[in-house]
Amino acid sequence: MAPSDTREKPFHVAVCGGGIGGLCMLIGLLRQNISCTLYESAAAFAEIGAGVSFGPNAVRAMSLIDPDIKKGYDRIATGNAWPAKKNLWFEFNLGPKEDGWKDLKAPGKEGQRIAQVVALDVGQSSVHRAHFLDVLVDLVPDGVAQFGKRVEKVEKKGQKMLLTFQDGSTAEADAVIGCDGVKSRARQILLGEDHETTNPTFTGKYAYRGLIPMEKAAKALGDELARNSQMYLGRHGHVLTFPIENGKTMNVVAFQTKMDGKWEDERWVLPMKKEDMFADFEGWGESVQKVLSLMEKPDVWALFDHPPAPTYFKGHFALLGDAAHASTPHQGAGAGQAIEDAFILSNLLGQVNSVDEIERAFYAYDAVRRPRSQKVVATSRDAAKIYEFEDEKLKSNLVMIKKTLEMRYDWIWNEDLPQQLKTAEAIMGSGQACR
Ligand SMILES: Cc1cc2nc3c(=O)[nH]c(=O)nc-3n(C[C@H](O)[C@H](O)[C@H](O)COP(=O)(O)OP(=O)(O)OC[C@H]3O[C@@H](n4cnc5c(N)ncnc54)[C@H](O)[C@@H]3O)c2cc1C
Repeated sequence: MAPSDTREKPFHVAVCGGGIGGLCMLIGLLRQNISCTLYESAAAFAEIGAGVSFGPNAVRAMSLIDPDIKKGYDRIATGNAWPAKKNLWFEFNLGPKEDGWKDLKAPGKEGQRIAQVVALDVGQSSVHRAHFLDVLVDLVPDGVAQFGKRVEKVEKKGQKMLLTFQDGSTAEADAVIGCDGVKSRARQILLGEDHETTNPTFTGKYAYRGLIPMEKAAKALGDELARNSQMYLGRHGHVLTFPIENGKTMNVVAFQTKMDGKWEDERWVLPMKKEDMFADFEGWGESVQKVLSLMEKPDVWALFDHPPAPTYFKGHFALLGDAAHASTPHQGAGAGQAIEDAFILSNLLGQVNSVDEIERAFYAYDAVRRPRSQKVVATSRDAAKIYEFEDEKLKSNLVMIKKTLEMRYDWIWNEDLPQQLKTAEAIMGSGQACR
């Protein structure tokens, strides 16, 4: 939201990391007339060639940070092609063949529709990650971002925060916001390298990701399945597809469970062998087999998330986005939480009038953002269990699964973000602080 006071604030903020979270935070700070510098470890801003989808809450948060983010987003966002399906987030179908169930009797026929989940006003709304990053970068003036700056240390030095980078250089700021992703160095520094919640945990799931030219997908699957978002559910696995790039491309993510629950490779993203992927999806039906066979240059991603941190700040140092609460992607909500974080924190800092008040803003940010974002992390793990018939109560009861799916995302999507900000402002105004 636009600030009423247009004078520059008497403090400087360092943002560490230029992904979706760091860039939204930076744009929010600029919008609030706060002097800031972004330090990115890579040589340039970059995102992977894959799709990312956003729920109604995330899309509203974009407008609330800066209407220009939303305008740019609208130029590149893609939804379902069929007008009758515009409000649908996903359609859920049974994935495996009737005789393809390893340890269960098939609860229905392959391709049978289990549920249609509506996300009012937004439906399925997705972008190519690199294109969304371009939208954000276009809103950053020259000179605000520095590259090749991998943060190694953050410490208090007198009244200032001192950042030390891997190249030996240093920088000072009044406040530091760590937005450096799931393997966050900022999180290690803030929580302590040995703290039990510092390191990400393997969630027991991995995913093949790839893109398909839409013409090829539509020829193989037919228009309805290709051009509108679909999920195919099965025992210990699920596959999702949605259109991106104005319908020119289909984004695919095919999930599987690692039955021993361990990920031992240091790398979390590996090139994959197509035969491994087909072995994983043996017994799955025609639609899924067609999708897998058309995936271009897929790779495989181990899925990690964070145990719930006891705090997102310490003094003048805070965490945001995946650095604070990395999540599995099963609710399509991780990046959306980073955008919500940026909306709340930039607005709270916009109300700070002296360096001494920064900690109160961080305290209020932590108080409202931590419970919600950590609930997203926990329920995202639960979502995968439902999609993969591993939920202890629902098992493969399709009627119960339908009922659950139709209502389980409402609390994420219908969040009243201006009200969340008001709550945070009240906490900040009450002078409660700080550790
Ligand atoms: C398979 C998969 C699918 C997903 N799909 C969705 C989806 O559909 N919808 C959704 O909302 N979310 C989704 N997510 C989650 C989403 O990708 C993340 O929540 C989001 O990208 C996090 O953004 P971030 O800016 O916090 O972190 P990142 O995108 O990881 O950015 C961190 C940045 O910090 C930089 N950096 C790292 N270390 C340092 C350092 N020490 N110093 C300085 N800079 C540093 C990095 O180079 C990078 O630019 C998905 C995740 C996965 C794994």
